[in-house]
Amino acid sequence: MIVLGIDTSCDDTSVAVLEDRKILSNVVSSQIKFHSKYGGIVPEIASRKHIECIWDVTEKAINEANLTMKDIELIAVCHGPGLIGSLLVGLCFAKALSYASRKSLIGVNHLEGHIQAIFLEKLYPDFPFLTLIVSGGHTSLYRVDDFGKYKELGRTRDDAAGEAYDKVAKMLGVGYPGGPVIDSMANEGNPEKFNLPRPYLHGSLDFSFSGLKTAVKLLLKNLGYEEGKVPDDVKKDISAAFQCCVIDVLIEKIKWAASMEKLKRVVITGGVAANSELRKRAKMIEGLEIYLPSKSLCTDNAAMIAVAGYHRFLRGEKSDLYLNARAYLPL
Ligand code: ATP
Ligand code: FE
Repeated sequence: MIVLGIDTSCDDTSVAVLEDRKILSNVVSSQIKFHSKYGGIVPEIASRKHIECIWDVTEKAINEANLTMKDIELIAVCHGPGLIGSLLVGLCFAKALSYASRKSLIGVNHLEGHIQAIFLEKLYPDFPFLTLIVSGGHTSLYRVDDFGKYKELGRTRDDAAGEAYDKVAKMLGVGYPGGPVIDSMANEGNPEKFNLPRPYLHGSLDFSFSGLKTAVKLLLKNLGYEEGKVPDDVKKDISAAFQCCVIDVLIEKIKWAASMEKLKRVVITGGVAANSELRKRAKMIEGLEIYLPSKSLCTDNAAMIAVAGYHRFLRGEKSDLYLNARAYLPL
């Protein structure tokens, strides 16, 4: 089955074409250059940029797949959670395409897309498995018993890990998005130079990263540096110390959750799962099988939406033109 996937949940316009689970094309048009000077996403700019490029990105995806619109059999679109204005652009576009071309439409939860990104890889786990979604807006643990069967075990009570990366990057003055920059600076820093808190929340599978972010802010103040004006060696050491705390907590919670749920297979996904240190340390966890989507499938992309839509369609699900966008949409 040929599936067209569309994701415009945040700042990337992405369209992909799959043949069942095989990726024929996965085009991601990034808006980073329009948002970076603001140190974060400006929702109004994001929706306007989606409108400007959605048609070109779709044509590119279909051309790269060497197909035409006639070949598409299913349109899978992300309808939440995300920025409402951004979601509406992708959703209205998908509905119009579905109506005009008489192709089936299926709405997909963005988080389900992140989880199912692993099914685009050659190596994927059998059910049941544990998933950590660690991204710009979420840090959540789920037990996954089957396609569509997700049980939340824990979530962040404040900032998501990716959000903490982005905010710390802003304090260090290294631009947006912060994850990839902190990832590479941390490699050159000493994680033991500064002592930052590890928010374990003992006894809970929830997370909390806002205290860690505030600790970095206080550290900079105590060291006498103005935010955004920090010497390179200090940036590297703070990046290493901050990253070490985040990863220690993520790894520990994966172990707790796996042991509580008696699960051996673990999928780590979402933008922060592209982090090189997290990937390295996760693979070293003894007694657990760790599955990581390739880096480009960890961050937002439409192939993950297409594969989740494909599995929903196989279960007999379909959406109609009343499908609505939702900023908040639990799995
Ligand atoms: P959500 O999926 O929760 O709705 P989102 O779609 O905005 O949020 P993603 O695209 O999945 O988030 O991930 C983006 C986040 O991942 C950003 O916060 C970014 O800083 C972070 N990130 C990307 N690469 C890395 C990396 N190498 N190390 C750490 N964080 C990273
Ligand atoms: Fe995402």
